[in-house]
Amino acid sequence: MLQTLRNWKRRRLLAQAAIPELLWREALESLPFLAVYTDAELERLRERVVVFLAEKSILGARGFEVIPLMRVIIALQACVLVLNLDPRYYDGWESVIVYPDEFITDLEYEDEAGVVHRAHEPLAGEAMPQGPVVLSWPDVEASADWSSAGMNLVIHEFAHKLDMRSGEANGCPPLPAEMPPRSWQKAMNCAFDHFRARVEKGEDTPIDSYAAESPAEFFAVLSEVFFADPTLLVHEYPKIYELFAWFYKQDPASRTELLLET
Ligand SMILES: [Zn+2]
Repeated sequence: MLQTLRNWKRRRLLAQAAIPELLWREALESLPFLAVYTDAELERLRERVVVFLAEKSILGARGFEVIPLMRVIIALQACVLVLNLDPRYYDGWESVIVYPDEFITDLEYEDEAGVVHRAHEPLAGEAMPQGPVVLSWPDVEASADWSSAGMNLVIHEFAHKLDMRSGEANGCPPLPAEMPPRSWQKAMNCAFDHFRARVEKGEDTPIDSYAAESPAEFFAVLSEVFFADPTLLVHEYPKIYELFAWFYKQDPASRTELLLET
């Protein structure tokens, strides 16, 4: 019954809150990594974006005005992660807060050990367990084009959000029943240790060295690479690519290869 009601609400929403074509196109063009998505995938992504924008508030902080194009650009990247996942993965929190620049939040949260966290240095983005995702707009804008930025802030923070479904981010999001967390952790820990050793040796890694900070950052940074530069992840850590393809139920590298063949 609940599912029926949910589906009915969703259909009504899709009919009422459609995104104007011009706005949709403009948002897509500002995110070149989406060029490899098929028309059918983009249509599904558009539906996800409509629902996301209806369910979440995207609010400007410090007087910043969030225009419709910004809302769609943020929602599009957030929804890429859950395109083939249960939409309820983003349940349990309500808003995305957008700052006009890097920010120091007044927000604080308590982790499982009872330690209260509060940011003291300016941040480009932050995700809080059961709380908002906070983004600096100039950093969202600068990281929309992977080929020039080599990072994607929105994907990064929303990967943390998936990780935080089970509490504090630790690099191991809740997994479907068929994958024991131990197998996930084994593969991720092995790759993380390998990557951290490379960074400690001073290697100029093609993957952002920030991934060596912690298992949580490793998951978030590698999720950026998985979606925005999938062949890089295939070359660097093929086992993690396979793991993510299974987890996200997407195979972005195969799309890129198809594009290169045509
Ligand atoms: Zn992070």
